[in-house]
Amino acid sequence: MQDLVDLDRAGLADLLAGWGQPAFRARQLHGWLYERGEADFGAMLNLPAPLRQRLSEEATAGTLQVATEQTSRDGTIKRLYRLPDGQLIESVLMVYASGRRTACISSQAGCAMGCAFCATGQMGFARHLTVGEIVEQAWIYARQLQARGERLSNVVLMGMGEPFHNYDAAVSAIRRIMDDLGIGARHITVSTVGLVPAIRRFAEEGFQVGLAISLHATTDAQRSAMMPVNRRWDIAELIAACADYQAISGRRVTFEWALIDGENDSEAEAHRLGQLLRGLSCHVNLIPLNPTGGYAGGPTRAEVAARFVEVLESHGIPATVRVRRGIDIDAGCGQLKSTVLKRQAP
Ligand code: SF4
Repeated sequence: MQDLVDLDRAGLADLLAGWGQPAFRARQLHGWLYERGEADFGAMLNLPAPLRQRLSEEATAGTLQVATEQTSRDGTIKRLYRLPDGQLIESVLMVYASGRRTACISSQAGCAMGCAFCATGQMGFARHLTVGEIVEQAWIYARQLQARGERLSNVVLMGMGEPFHNYDAAVSAIRRIMDDLGIGARHITVSTVGLVPAIRRFAEEGFQVGLAISLHATTDAQRSAMMPVNRRWDIAELIAACADYQAISGRRVTFEWALIDGENDSEAEAHRLGQLLRGLSCHVNLIPLNPTGGYAGGPTRAEVAARFVEVLESHGIPATVRVRRGIDIDAGCGQLKSTVLKRQAP
């Protein structure tokens, strides 16, 4: 079975040309899939019946099966999908009063990066996702929103996995999200723990995609304890690569900071962070930690987070405490899957 969502425009054209179809049929099929959001070949009425028949016998429009879905009081939808080989991945749709609709999608089943505080990291790595599996997560939300007269406006590669560990598929998926779903580069963000050579390579792609760095600590000793990747590329190398990305792309870099009670939320830490980022065009997102079963840390209190923001701002670094979307559901990375697996455990 050929998954059509795994193919870009040229791939669709090649497939249909190989079936002896004129070139405009691929354009029609593309229009059905991405402009009208139609996944049912039987409904594609301007395609000839024999072509619809062949598509239904030899192709699929997507492969993800919903295993579990949770909808939060704030409108956040979190899905756990089962892949054809049984692997489970998560994606989240965040709904904002401003009208922004952001899909947070996964790039791998599991993750090899081993961040101590992360539910996905605690599970280990299963496999890379294909381009189609990455794109389909956003496509499903785009279709769902389209059906209720809304539009998917933003995509963040911030779900399960490290996108730059699956570099080629992640970059192809970003191109597809721009081309097929019509979401501009400035509305797409890729989040990384700091694979420095990949950040440098990504800068050369010439996108204006946002870059978000999971930083979480200001000293190499502390960061290496939380995030093993830091033993390979230290904070100084990472910040230098971010400065170069900012210069080349013209985009302000975002630093993600999980605020962990008593761990990395002191005023002294905020001053160190302010000094580390001084002069860099950036923004800091502070996210009170979503507790996970395998990590003892808890979220920082609101007043401590507010003080952290003030200190950063005194260094000229804009910072926001991010609203924890979907706090009543398992919206932290990897948490839904770990909850489901626990439920399934004997
Ligand atoms: S935080 Fe991201 S990179 Fe780190 S283990 Fe979790 S999924 Fe992987």
